Amino acid sequence: MDVILQKWHIKIYEFIVYKVNPMVKAAEKRKKIFDRFSTHLSELNKEGKLAGIELKHDNTYICPICLNQFSNADLKSVSTNMLTSEDSPPDCLGGKKVALTCKECNNRCGRELDFHLQEGLLEIDSREFLPYSTRKAEVTIGGVTVKGEIRVTEKSVEVHVSEKNNNPEVAKEHLTKVVPNEVATVKPKPSRVDPLKFEVALLKSAYILAFAKFGYNLFLDPCYDVVREQLNKPDQRIYPEGFFTKQPFTKEQEGIYFILEKGYESIFVILPVMTKSSTRRFGVALPLPNIPIEKVAGKLKEQDAGFGLTVEFMGGNEVDYLTNKEEVNKLNNLVRSINSPEPAAPK
Ligand SMILES: [Zn+2]
Repeated sequence: MDVILQKWHIKIYEFIVYKVNPMVKAAEKRKKIFDRFSTHLSELNKEGKLAGIELKHDNTYICPICLNQFSNADLKSVSTNMLTSEDSPPDCLGGKKVALTCKECNNRCGRELDFHLQEGLLEIDSREFLPYSTRKAEVTIGGVTVKGEIRVTEKSVEVHVSEKNNNPEVAKEHLTKVVPNEVATVKPKPSRVDPLKFEVALLKSAYILAFAKFGYNLFLDPCYDVVREQLNKPDQRIYPEGFFTKQPFTKEQEGIYFILEKGYESIFVILPVMTKSSTRRFGVALPLPNIPIEKVAGKLKEQDAGFGLTVEFMGGNEVDYLTNKEEVNKLNNLVRSINSPEPAAPK
């Protein structure tokens, strides 16, 4: 009898959990992120580590993209520039809500960039004929061309031709040409992906992820202005070419690193992006204070795939850089040592 009651109890609990209004849940999540970062910011302020920045509110959140200041009131939709949740990588590519950005930044450099990243990855999937990938294409058999869709399954590659998208007579004629040993010519629909925006979207995801990890300890530094400017102007190349690599990283390597090797000093984010056909991991270099990213990106660009560098893995998931002062000190010392002109200790 007891057991049955217990079970019944669990059922009710589950029922309640699933009935939570998603809007309320999203608002709670935003509030949690706001509180975490605004407490961190006010701690830094008390310690006198916000050189030249005066906080405007009792509880302040600084948007990592425009560096404008926001208060609790901006969590509400009545705000003219509300704080919205920011996923990294984008939600559709397996990301999580890790930070907040203001609505203006989110709209300006959000959805559009995310489209190019997602669409770009889906196009790579279909080019590699990975299972579950699809691509619209023109298919010609025996001189008869129709619009179709290439769908890759676990076992085969299928061409789907709908009468809706074609002249029904032509579609019928096309089908008559499908006979054994006949060769089909497939011309994929032209890409809608802007390669620069694809790159900028990667940069944004890496920047937001690193910001979520290290908070205002690092990211108020002017060395990140070049990242922010690139995110704000995704139509022109501002951040240097060569800042990301596509090596075959493993799941275990995902995370945020510091590259310590002379000439390459930077933050290196190994970022997973997931479609229904694939998980790819990109390495994205972000600047460190006083070290020009142009030089680092230039050197990364010269490297062949699979090259190795000395890296320092920062903390892992368990270290909270927004609250753990001891770890923040280690971080600051590391950044200082990278910046110091002294030669590195012998290996
Ligand atoms: Zn903003």
